[in-house]
Amino acid sequence: MGQIIKGKPVADAISETLTKEVENLKVKGITPKLVIVRVGANGSDLAYERGALKRCSKIGIDAAVRELPEDIAQDKFIEELKKVNEDKSVNGIMVFRPFPKQLDENVIKYVIAPEKDMDCFSPVNVAKVMEKDKTGFAPCTPSAVIEILRHYKVPMQGKRAVIIGRSMIVGKPMAMLLLNENSTVTICHSKTVDMPEVCSEADILVVGIGRAKMIDSKYVKDGAVVIDVGINVDKNGKICGDVNTADCEPKASMITPVPAGVGSVTSSILAQHVIKACKLQNNL
Ligand code: NAP
Repeated sequence: MGQIIKGKPVADAISETLTKEVENLKVKGITPKLVIVRVGANGSDLAYERGALKRCSKIGIDAAVRELPEDIAQDKFIEELKKVNEDKSVNGIMVFRPFPKQLDENVIKYVIAPEKDMDCFSPVNVAKVMEKDKTGFAPCTPSAVIEILRHYKVPMQGKRAVIIGRSMIVGKPMAMLLLNENSTVTICHSKTVDMPEVCSEADILVVGIGRAKMIDSKYVKDGAVVIDVGINVDKNGKICGDVNTADCEPKASMITPVPAGVGSVTSSILAQHVIKACKLQNNL
């Protein structure tokens, strides 16, 4: 039977370290500050936002929300984002995506200040992930996966890692972060042929596809570590992952649950990024 590896102990351990770091900054008269920029009031954005605000407040980070109307025009949005960029009291900015149709992500990603970009929206941070440049900010979700693997002492070096999904926010940066840990990495996507066979070579299988419970035991090698990044709503209205946990658990050595898995660590990584940005901006 596989061990169910929850996110909370990981999030708590990160938060404990961060709380001490914020205390040290406050002694120097510095309080890290995050601004969340949200367009409209999408349910999953609001859920993420509540978690992020709670986590920041627990750690001692100031956090505020800039809520913008769903139908905001592109030039107005850019104007608002530039104001947050230029606000010297703000260290980190988290912008919810995807945007409504009238906003062009491919334009806006060049507007956010890279040094304040907490979730790897700016191409500068994407490049820094590729270059393993520690002054950049990798996206929070794949970073949370790495923290979970570290916390539960899962060896990454030399291991075969397979990632299902190739989005810019999950799959591609996940591949790069695992490569940076010296794993041998394969990425699967919707055009991959014979995905169960490819996946069943994985010592570490990371799934981020957005398909409720699609991945079952035929994708899992005996003893593999399975990380489920998916967040979906099943036909009974319950939150579930991309992995059929009950079916995979007997074969896996460790497996993350959904909910209470990767998602619970993401807000701690966001807080970690705000503190890192604050220190870099204050030359500390
Ligand atoms: P996305 O942009 O829709 O990308 C999905 C990826 O999965 C694409 O690369 C797609 O392949 C691939 N895919 C879809 N169906 C597939 C199939 N049947 N077989 C193989 N590959 C398939 O989604 P995302 O933003 O990366 O999110 C993925 C999941 O993670 C979602 O459930 C989302 O809710 C969740 N998520 C969780 C967190 C968290 O904090 N836990 C954060 C972000 C996202 P193609 O490229 O070929 O189309």
